[in-house]
Amino acid sequence: MFNQPPPFEDVNLFNSDAALQEAVRRAGGDVQALERFGATAGSGYMLEQARLANENPPQLRLFDARGCRLDRVEYHPAYHELMAASTGQGLHCERGVERAAAFYMAAQMEAGHCCPVTMTKASVPVVRQNPAIAEAWLGRIFVRDYDPSFRPAAEKRAVTIGMAMTERQGGSDVRANLTEAEPAGGGEYLVTGHKWFMSAPMSDAFLVLAQAPGGLSCFFMPRFLPDGTVNAIRLQRLKDKCGNRSNASSEVEFDRAHAWLAGEEGRGVATIMEMVTLTRIDCAISSAGLMRFGLAQALHHCSHRIAFQKKLIDQPLMRQVLADMTLDQEAAVALVFRLVRAFERSGEDEAEAAFARIMTPAVKYWVCKALPGFAYEAMECLGGNGYVEESPMARLFRESPLNAIWEGSGNIMCLDVLRAASKSPDAFAALLDQLQSAAHGEPRITAAVARLRDRFAKPAGLEADLRHVVESLVHAVAASLLRVSGPAAIGDAFIASRLDGGFRRTYGILPGADIDAILARALHSR
Ligand SMILES: Cc1cc2nc3c(=O)[nH]c(=O)nc-3n(C[C@H](O)[C@H](O)[C@H](O)COP(=O)(O)OP(=O)(O)OC[C@H]3O[C@@H](n4cnc5c(N)ncnc54)[C@H](O)[C@@H]3O)c2cc1C
Repeated sequence: MFNQPPPFEDVNLFNSDAALQEAVRRAGGDVQALERFGATAGSGYMLEQARLANENPPQLRLFDARGCRLDRVEYHPAYHELMAASTGQGLHCERGVERAAAFYMAAQMEAGHCCPVTMTKASVPVVRQNPAIAEAWLGRIFVRDYDPSFRPAAEKRAVTIGMAMTERQGGSDVRANLTEAEPAGGGEYLVTGHKWFMSAPMSDAFLVLAQAPGGLSCFFMPRFLPDGTVNAIRLQRLKDKCGNRSNASSEVEFDRAHAWLAGEEGRGVATIMEMVTLTRIDCAISSAGLMRFGLAQALHHCSHRIAFQKKLIDQPLMRQVLADMTLDQEAAVALVFRLVRAFERSGEDEAEAAFARIMTPAVKYWVCKALPGFAYEAMECLGGNGYVEESPMARLFRESPLNAIWEGSGNIMCLDVLRAASKSPDAFAALLDQLQSAAHGEPRITAAVARLRDRFAKPAGLEADLRHVVESLVHAVAASLLRVSGPAAIGDAFIASRLDGGFRRTYGILPGADIDAILARALHSR
């Protein structure tokens, strides 16, 4: 056999990603720890676990041989290996830039298991809202360990937490929830109703939205009750999903299931939003990671495959495609790490808090929306090899739309940007000022910021225009970030094509760009 690329395995996902390294260094992160995780996440062994976990999806076991309810999901051992690797790195409980960098690599290792990892991490601010629950549970969340056993949390080394908001009649519009919570005294409630999506149903507890006498409220629902009996959480079936196969997503019924209030009664949406804000950031981080995975596969194939007497990576048109993809990948990395830094500083810096509030939905929108088209283009770079199941590209392609759908679909994200900007017009104006000064006189960024100011000054028709406006905002922020990070060729080409270019539907349209410099950065490995 000749002219087939070697397998893509045992690639250090940190050392081979210049944009990621730069983002981590800029934030003063611990590079050595990330190098170690990059080696694990990119190892042939873990990539094989990823394949196994997806080809052997979780199985629902509703009853035992005697007809007793089990309500359990069985996973392939490979899934547990992935979970152990990510929780061992603290991805379910740590925060900050290093955790974001490792999560970005964990998504490349295998995306499905990231769902319970991110939900557990994001549950922390909500768990803290009930001191008794925080006291009993946080110690088992903040441990770099994984314990998938089906036992009361008190007997376990480590726990994971899920969430159940979506019902048949309303997912984005959770105020349409019908599930009821009846007070049972002493802060306890009995929850009855049906949830249309509840992922990671083997979690040790769930944050659940339900209608209490005081309105929609957020509850903490453990899998086992304090007396050691199993709570009335009745799994109904598992979703047969387009992708995300290693992760179980269930339909579930609560039959007077016991739960405890988290936050105030009637403030359920505000309470759960503390969790959802964090899962939204993780959606963007993992989509950025998956972009890198697709790009790395494309670069690898094109660096080895010869067609028409030349390596594909030396064919002028393929170079345009790969360089154009690199620009979106670089923008995604710059945006998500800027967002993580803003989030980390938001406690003590109002401007950073405003940036995080406005840019979380905007970045989630843009990065997650960009991924499916990107994954498709990466797949095409591999030709027919990209379209077969032995290649990881088919899995990437099926996974790629999901981050845009859950945790607030595209339009909902755009509406959230508008809500944040309208609620705090001064903060939004300050963000545009910040952007303007970061432009350092670059006329195309300055013009983009002026257009945004104008558009927000005229509210008529703004809602219908939001996709355009949010994309323009993200492009302007990404342009200002790329101008000061990485090679100038990347910032210049991004500005020329995204801020100043005409309509485009595909990758490979970068007239006048310094393609050699852009690809040198994409291929850089140390
Ligand atoms: C694999 C998977 C796992 C999931 N796991 C969980 C889970 O663990 N827990 C959980 O609670 N949920 C989960 N979900 C549900 C997910 O969060 C919802 O599907 C999502 O929030 C969208 O809600 P919906 O499906 O009801 O769609 P809808 O709310 O009906 O929205 C449909 C479309 O309409 C758009 N739309 C809605 N309102 C407007 C508007 N005002 N203007 C313009 N457009 C609008 C939306 O953007 C979307 O594109 C999961 C979903 C999937 C696919």
